[in-house]
Amino acid sequence: MTVQSWRSLHSKKYQLTLRLFLFLNLVSSLFSLLNPIYKVHAFTLPIAFILGISSALLLWHWLNAERKIYLPVISVIFGCLWAWHIMIKMPGTHPGEVNFLIVVLLNVLFIGTIAFSNNIVAFLLHSLPVFIICLLFSGSEQWARMAFCLALPIVGISIQHLIEKRNDAFAQSLMHKLLAERETLNDLSMLDPLTGLYNRRGFQHRFATLMSLAPEGHYVLLLDIDHFKAYNDHYGHMMGDQALIQVSAAVRDAVRSRDIVTRFGGEEFVVLLANSNADSAQLAAERIRQKVYDLKIPHILNASVATNVTISIGIAPLEGEEIDKSLENADKALYEAKRLGRNNILTSDALAQY
Ligand code: GH3
Ligand code: MG
Ligand code: MG
Repeated sequence: MTVQSWRSLHSKKYQLTLRLFLFLNLVSSLFSLLNPIYKVHAFTLPIAFILGISSALLLWHWLNAERKIYLPVISVIFGCLWAWHIMIKMPGTHPGEVNFLIVVLLNVLFIGTIAFSNNIVAFLLHSLPVFIICLLFSGSEQWARMAFCLALPIVGISIQHLIEKRNDAFAQSLMHKLLAERETLNDLSMLDPLTGLYNRRGFQHRFATLMSLAPEGHYVLLLDIDHFKAYNDHYGHMMGDQALIQVSAAVRDAVRSRDIVTRFGGEEFVVLLANSNADSAQLAAERIRQKVYDLKIPHILNASVATNVTISIGIAPLEGEEIDKSLENADKALYEAKRLGRNNILTSDALAQY
């Protein structure tokens, strides 16, 4: 998206350069016609061409803004027309007369410098035909003056080009940095800072992606740490946080990378088992329960079940894309699993059979 706007900015700049160039040529040719420097050949065919082509192209480009006109071609055509204009007019002036040459040369260089301040090729293609003709018609004592007139804008444009390239490189690196930072922030906003698992937002994001790839055949596990309030009360909140971190890592370890492991709230986790079935969901839940049990985090107030931290799990299939319904079913199964004695697993199907 941003790269596209960058490109469209460049293309717009190119189109504006073209319009400016055509406009300056139109005004200059009109001025030459209305106020010719010498009365001889006040009207020349090339001047009429410059006037006609620039106004026609301006109009055409205004109507077809999307169509690209190739700048080097246009600039060399106009350069040749100005040179042709000199060739017609020059023989009618006094021998040795150079004012006319200087005026036209400066006029052409002026147009080029303004319009092509960022395009040295177009500038040269536009200026060189006129410059060469001027050299041919003027005595050698003028050559240095004319060469200086040409060299000055060339040096200026080259320096301008270097400055612009540096600015472009800076702007581009800034843009890339901002994009990378935006991506990092986006990623961070999807993760739970304590456990590094997905938060609800991350879950929604991964869930939407999964649904677009495979809308069916998934299972939902809802996990809850047993008697965790008592753990906090007895061991303190800091230890509670450490236990949450360890349990999260164990849950993450127990499932495949394509499964979505989420901290859904406090000491509650949701695991979405992608492309699963009733048996493998049951096995995955059992694996998780055992891994957490094997952490052997001491919890003496969990004594009714064990002397370490345990979890209970409710399992429900995902029907269609109705995640809320599945979570509700898993929650009912979890509630019953807790009621039946904690450190326990129950499926929503088994619950329905009660
Ligand atoms: P049950 O076995 O029925 O699930 O009982 P429980 O005590 O685990 O359930 P309850 O919902 O009553 O308490 C959850 C506790 O989890 C409350 C709070 O102290 C603790 N808890 C929630 N979020 C955090 C957290 O980010 N850090 C810590 N240390 N504790 C948390
Ligand atoms: Mg709870
Ligand atoms: Mg609990």
